[in-house]
Amino acid sequence: MSADLPAPSQARGVIGLVASACTSCMICVRECPTWCITLDSHTEQVDEPGARRPRSVNVLDAFAIDYGLCMYCGICVEVCPFEALFWSPEYEYSEVRIADLLHDKTRLGQWFETVPDFEPLEAGSEVKVKKVPR
Ligand code: SF4
Ligand code: SF4
Repeated sequence: MSADLPAPSQARGVIGLVASACTSCMICVRECPTWCITLDSHTEQVDEPGARRPRSVNVLDAFAIDYGLCMYCGICVEVCPFEALFWSPEYEYSEVRIADLLHDKTRLGQWFETVPDFEPLEAGSEVKVKKVPR
């Protein structure tokens, strides 16, 4: 972001992903109005101490947002039940090739590092607060 033109901290510039918090539930993928989120995952069996059977867990293999299609509605951020998506005010990521607007899991994770710590606007506000990645 240009130091001369800082965006407000709560601006919808780009979406950051906390991959370790994502359970591959697909809610954001289904709710996105422009179908610009793609996700791939697989299931693994995890043994837990004291458990009689292994537990099935989803492992996130790939996650991407196509900013050539995204309309910045924020639905994905709002519906994620696991606090895996956050808005960052960063906005300088224009590309010459539209295909380069597809941001993969690694890049979306880098955007999370630019998500500011928010203070609630007022008592009782439900504005999201940046969490430490799990
Ligand atoms: S902000 Fe809206 S259009 Fe963009 S990825 Fe999220 S749900 Fe889809
Ligand atoms: S809604 Fe959240 S937890 Fe579910 S797939 Fe999307 S980012 Fe992952």
